Amino acid sequence: MGDSIELVIRPWTPILGLCGCCCEWTPVRPDSACGPMRGISTEGRLAALRGMVSSELNIFIDVDYTLIAANGSLRPNSRELFLRLREAGHQPWVWSGMGIREEDMIRHGMDGCVAGYIVKPLDDYLKTLRRLEPEAWPDLIVDDHSEIVEAFGGITVRPYFFTDDEDRELRRAADALLQYAETGECADPAFRAPPDRVSRLPA
Ligand SMILES: [Mg+2]
Repeated sequence: MGDSIELVIRPWTPILGLCGCCCEWTPVRPDSACGPMRGISTEGRLAALRGMVSSELNIFIDVDYTLIAANGSLRPNSRELFLRLREAGHQPWVWSGMGIREEDMIRHGMDGCVAGYIVKPLDDYLKTLRRLEPEAWPDLIVDDHSEIVEAFGGITVRPYFFTDDEDRELRRAADALLQYAETGECADPAFRAPPDRVSRLPA
């Protein structure tokens, strides 16, 4: 009798679920959800995603070279960005690695558009921010550094070093953030979805 290979197929019922790591729609085994979604039902995962994309979002916006140039001038469309987020029901916060920047926002007449001010961590972003126990947690961010956008999710804008009346990066940022907030998707290549969409789930 010659060698034979026994192929064992263990049946399981594929269900369409959201992967907790990549949040892609994918057929998953009911018992194999990975990452932070492990143990959470498909219904729970769906509820988390719906809650994420339909509710009020805290959007944290960097100051230096995102909103303000090296000479202190305000970037074009800054007010438009804040007002569009406000009008859509979201909360635009200002944060900076240089501390609380309320005076800068007052100087530019922007203070009334800002939900609040927070100190931005400069490294080990998630751990440091948790340790600081901020008043609010960012759902999405806008920054000229891609590394911190990768950590929290949001959009990277081109650094604004010098006054440029033709700059439209903040209009682009508003378009991307609102597209994601409304649909759960964003086509802008500079946008990153938050890596942890279950942060709004109760512990
Ligand atoms: Mg910056």
